[in-house]
Amino acid sequence: MGNDLKDLRLVSKKNREKSLIHVSSSSLNSEVVFGKDFAFIAGPCSVETEEQTIQTAIAVKEAGAHMLRGGVFKPRTSPYSFQGLGLKGLKILKKASEITGLPIVTEVLDPRDVHWIAEYVDMLQIGARNMQNFSLLREVGKSNKPVLLKRGMNSTLVDLLYSAEYILSEGNNNVVLCERGIRTFENYTRNTLDISAVPSLKELTHLPVIVDPSHAAGKNSLVIPLAQAAAAVGADGIIVEVHICPEKALSDKDQALTPQQFKYLVENALAIKKALKNVENKKII
Ligand code: PEP
Ligand code: MN
Repeated sequence: MGNDLKDLRLVSKKNREKSLIHVSSSSLNSEVVFGKDFAFIAGPCSVETEEQTIQTAIAVKEAGAHMLRGGVFKPRTSPYSFQGLGLKGLKILKKASEITGLPIVTEVLDPRDVHWIAEYVDMLQIGARNMQNFSLLREVGKSNKPVLLKRGMNSTLVDLLYSAEYILSEGNNNVVLCERGIRTFENYTRNTLDISAVPSLKELTHLPVIVDPSHAAGKNSLVIPLAQAAAAVGADGIIVEVHICPEKALSDKDQALTPQQFKYLVENALAIKKALKNVENKKII
């Protein structure tokens, strides 16, 4: 397939300039529109307890988040690491959503789980490790929930777009793409954030593109600068891991932000967007 773009029938920018992807909470009157305003998705890597999730949800809402994230089925490298709370976690996420009004997104690992997980959440996440799980892509394509599709750590941008094409080809047009860092020889960071992915994808597709600085950086200290870069390069939003008490997190604790740090991230990203707006009309090429 290589760099062959000709079969990108539905995701290609040739079809339309820009898609707006609406994500709304089923029980509440709140909505996020990806592709319109800069969106912040925040929350823990994993749902661990009701208290941790609800406290985090309240804190991130207060700091400016538009959506809550939280994993309940975790794709862990080791089978002995915390695997997530499953259904119990979904019920906790739903409760956090009802309390805060934030729509929720969670990762789905198995095609057999898509249907029932979709009953609980407002957006389904396909993780980096499953970006080319084609039966899973087809299954979320058949669901009526918007999909957050993360780039595989070894996948090209064209691979990512063909994975999105699988979802659209099943009738689900509501896909948001996410750059979350790729594997390179560099190992100071967990992954290398491919910041050029954002403007490149924007040239190729009408789908919104967000950035995950948490899984790219792998380190708390680097998350905010990478989020700033995402805002500057034209991303449609950010998904970031926040924990009420990062040192106690059961997964990805080194990259978790405190709610206070997340608040600072939001202020920074919005300041960058505002500064860019002031020069927008001076664009010559
Ligand atoms: C996540 O967002 O919880 C996650 C596992 O990310 P990724 O699939 O990008 O590694
Ligand atoms: Mn994580």
